[in-house]
Amino acid sequence: MVVNGRPLKRAKRRVTADLHDFLTFPLPSAAGGSGGDFRSSVRSFLARHCRLPPPASSVLSPLAVTSVSLLTWRVTFRIGKGEEEGDGMGRRNGVVEMDVVEEDVRRSRSVYCDQCRVVGWSGHPVCGKRYHFIIRSEINPIPGYHQMCTRCGSLLHMLDSRCVSCKYEMTVEDYEDWAYRQLDDATHLLHGVVHANGYGHLLRVNGREGGSKCLTGCDIMSFWDRLCKMLHVRKVTVMDISKKYGVEYRLLHAVTAGHPWYGDWGYKFGAGSYAVTSDAYKKAVETLSRIPLSFFSPKHDLLGLHCRIQSHCTGPSQTANWRR
Ligand SMILES: [Zn+2]
Ligand SMILES: [Zn+2]
Repeated sequence: MVVNGRPLKRAKRRVTADLHDFLTFPLPSAAGGSGGDFRSSVRSFLARHCRLPPPASSVLSPLAVTSVSLLTWRVTFRIGKGEEEGDGMGRRNGVVEMDVVEEDVRRSRSVYCDQCRVVGWSGHPVCGKRYHFIIRSEINPIPGYHQMCTRCGSLLHMLDSRCVSCKYEMTVEDYEDWAYRQLDDATHLLHGVVHANGYGHLLRVNGREGGSKCLTGCDIMSFWDRLCKMLHVRKVTVMDISKKYGVEYRLLHAVTAGHPWYGDWGYKFGAGSYAVTSDAYKKAVETLSRIPLSFFSPKHDLLGLHCRIQSHCTGPSQTANWRR
């Protein structure tokens, strides 16, 4: 279903009838099969499913109006059955918009990729393009159609270049700073970046605890996983830094499920920071698994437990690769 070029208001009116379901997209019949490569698949995806959003509503606005290095596309999904019907699980149905930012690396501020360097892919030739897949938080502290004055921090309307408070005139460099800050925004519900060669990085997933109202972390991960398959993404890394109750969640989840949370989607231990090896990680999981639940009563030394776990796995980095 193509929404490319359709006026936004009309698209919203027909949302429940026309849009793909975020929770099932893409259907297995449209998943693309085993052939193909990322470079051609992403071009096909943009042409078939995405449109250029109104400039003032782009994730990078207002730079999107003038930038030659960052081009923003958008695809809109419904969540579940649509606005009128619930799914019986307390989930609020609605729509979700994903921005796809096509970055021209030759004109970018950062030609080299830090994540590639960390995971050991520095030897890969620098690709001319990389694609950011971003779902913004519904509760972004900066309201839509606004930007922040570089000098005083006041909110300006997107179309105003002069601050009404301090009279500062925003420059092209200010807009570019703004755009790159939006890319790095920690509140995004999803931020994945894939180089044109098909190697990518999952930079951010924020579910309910991360500020998402409609989508759970599992909803977002399952969508990302299906999207990667459809686009023939070759490998993805993720830095697993989430914590629960003061302990790395990759350890806690592994105790109950045998693998970290990302393992539900096929991610495996890739490389640990601070010389943490795969064996050290396994030992940490085994140590945690042997501790009886009674240990968690208030009279026991939880700090001691934490230290025992930390002695096995001290680094925040768990990169993981995926498929092929
Ligand atoms: Zn990279
Ligand atoms: Zn100002």
